[in-house]
Amino acid sequence: MKYFARIAMCLAALMMIAAPALAEKKVRWKMAMTWGSTLTPLSEAGPWLAEMVGAMTGGNFEIRWEGADKHKAALGILDMVKGGQYEIGHSAAYYWKGKDVTTTFFTTAPFDMNVNEQYAWYYYGGGLELMQKVFSKHGVYSFPGGNTGVQMGGWFRKEITNLEDLKGLKMRIPGLAGEVFAKLGVSVTNIPPGELSTALERGTIDALEWVGPGMDIRMGFYKIAPFYYAGWHEPASELQYMVNKKAYDDLSPEYQAVLKTAMQAVAIRMTAANFDDNARAWEKMLAEYPNIKVMKFPEPVLQAMKKATDEVLAGYAAENAEFKEVYESRKAYREVARPWTKISEQNYLEAYDTVTK
Ligand code: CA
Repeated sequence: MKYFARIAMCLAALMMIAAPALAEKKVRWKMAMTWGSTLTPLSEAGPWLAEMVGAMTGGNFEIRWEGADKHKAALGILDMVKGGQYEIGHSAAYYWKGKDVTTTFFTTAPFDMNVNEQYAWYYYGGGLELMQKVFSKHGVYSFPGGNTGVQMGGWFRKEITNLEDLKGLKMRIPGLAGEVFAKLGVSVTNIPPGELSTALERGTIDALEWVGPGMDIRMGFYKIAPFYYAGWHEPASELQYMVNKKAYDDLSPEYQAVLKTAMQAVAIRMTAANFDDNARAWEKMLAEYPNIKVMKFPEPVLQAMKKATDEVLAGYAAENAEFKEVYESRKAYREVARPWTKISEQNYLEAYDTVTK
């Protein structure tokens, strides 16, 4: 006990030394999220960050967050943070595809890296530096904000048995994957999260992808579109914190460190929360919703998706130097990472299956 008491005394002494540095200035920030205030786990990006930053600064750095139900601009976060109406935002980088297609890579790309590979790219493969470079033009700093893990391929009213079934289908699917599906004859649209159920009910769309079982099941999509396809298009969707450049630069180095540390901590926790949410919902879904048909896309459809993905990416890379730079960085890192993923994760899962059949 003496040992722990001594450590506690040391910590208390350290905190007394550290406290004046962090207490030097009151900072009040506003934060806007793409998600509704109760759209957990994504909406936790607000309260978790506010709690951590507040706790680390003795309440002197205060972040008040708002969901899309309050600010009514789910897909306007980048503009609002850039413009300074909010100092910080939480969203997903691929929502800015219309402004700058290169931003999509900082969420995910079809048939690209998984969560571990992509985080390794961010921290050790040059990803963070490329992210700042791309977002610098848009007046914000950008940071990883938690990962959804592999997303499901979406909910369809009818089974997709071949490529013909995709032709003329009206589907909500954002990012580069939307362009891939458009190439395959799908009529593609992006609809803010809050309007998805209504669009499906009214027949504005025939199919949609959202996230994974955890978030999907609460939206009730299965009642209308029971064919639930495994994923291909968002293998590791990273969420995004954006910070107004001037607001960040005006912070003391201590507060910048607090903010960066807290965002990183939220990102890890968010990734775990998404995994947990999906795993529990998957178990429940299989038991309680027998009408849901879990499907995989047929191989010819997957092959066509891969071919279209390569064409879409190569097309942008040919005309956009920055897109090409990020595309090649990701490709090079994936080629380093994937053989290790196969012999470690994939091999382990196969070994586990072999002995637990
Ligand atoms: Ca999605």
